[in-house]
Amino acid sequence: MPADLHALAAFARRHPRLLVLTGAGCSTDSGIPDYRDAQGQWKRAPPMTYQAFTGDAHARQRYWARSLIGWRVMSAARPGPAHRALARLEAAGHVELLLTQNVDGLHGAAGSRRVIDLHGRIDTVVCLACQARLPRADWQALLHTRNPGWQRHQAATAPDGDADLDGLDFSTFEVPDCPRCGTGLLKPDVVFFGESVPRPRVDAAFAALQRADALLVAGSSLMVYSGYRFAQAAATAGKPIAAINLGRTRADELLALKLEQPVGAALQALAEALEQRPSVSIA
Ligand SMILES: [Zn+2]
Repeated sequence: MPADLHALAAFARRHPRLLVLTGAGCSTDSGIPDYRDAQGQWKRAPPMTYQAFTGDAHARQRYWARSLIGWRVMSAARPGPAHRALARLEAAGHVELLLTQNVDGLHGAAGSRRVIDLHGRIDTVVCLACQARLPRADWQALLHTRNPGWQRHQAATAPDGDADLDGLDFSTFEVPDCPRCGTGLLKPDVVFFGESVPRPRVDAAFAALQRADALLVAGSSLMVYSGYRFAQAAATAGKPIAAINLGRTRADELLALKLEQPVGAALQALAEALEQRPSVSIA
């Protein structure tokens, strides 16, 4: 085993209860592109903000038209090597909590149970007036019914289910009101930029960090503060941090161990190393 993977396995053995913080790099093998390049810069237009979504009807038309196309990729995505390896690590008792910044639900689909979806889930839609939640699949069907013809568009998809559909006229795209209260504005049940993570969710994540021995960052540049603050908190509490990420992270100076390599293969190697039992010689 290469030295860095050996060091990662030793890190996990020394710190048996890991808080694992995952990001977009875990889902690229599932066909969901990540946001940022190796320098931590945006690869594409920054995602929708809460202020634009709630304050601008044209922004909502554009968002849902693009999301109508992007959902096809999101809903068809299946767990990749990183998701499967983390589910194995949990089954082997190494994961105190898996805190994910991804909204794709693929950790749960791979079998992880101790999961907090820090930024919510793209497979659910919530009404900002009556708080009703409905499955995104139902909302998708409603969007299709009101907007026949849009489904023929093809576009590249973003990690938040958005899609590149530039150059189209979105003004005719019809965005239905909430089917329950009749007037409310529906929003994907994800935390948009400019929006706060719900307090109980943050508190539960910090409580898990307190119980954990160390933080393992997998496939995230930690450029967003809502994730970075867990690295800050771990450092303040004297808990060591390891990271597997292609490219720099915002927490590089806080890391005890850094592996710059594809996260799926590294996590698979880690799961295999930890599942190996020491051989017992019988005299
Ligand atoms: Zn409603």
